[in-house]
Amino acid sequence: MEMRNYMEDIVLSKLDDVLKQYPDCCTCEQCRTDIVVLALNHLPPKYISTQRGNIYARIDEMMAENSIEVIEEIAKAIEIVSKHPRHNMPE
Ligand SMILES: [Zn+2]
Repeated sequence: MEMRNYMEDIVLSKLDDVLKQYPDCCTCEQCRTDIVVLALNHLPPKYISTQRGNIYARIDEMMAENSIEVIEEIAKAIEIVSKHPRHNMPE
């Protein structure tokens, strides 16, 4: 059985939109991953079976329902990561 947490898809699809509002935030691979992980840890996981129904239609539906919460959590995560980046800072 295939299953996935579609909250991941929602966060990934919104990440770039929210990052545009924070032009000073680093967008290296490390920081982007940290933002996604932080946001996902504050959002309820939503699992679906990928064998049932039209997964993308359902993600669109869930995205419409959850987008405000998701955007808020991404914004909070960006603020935390901006203040405490874990990438290797150049001297
Ligand atoms: Zn970075």
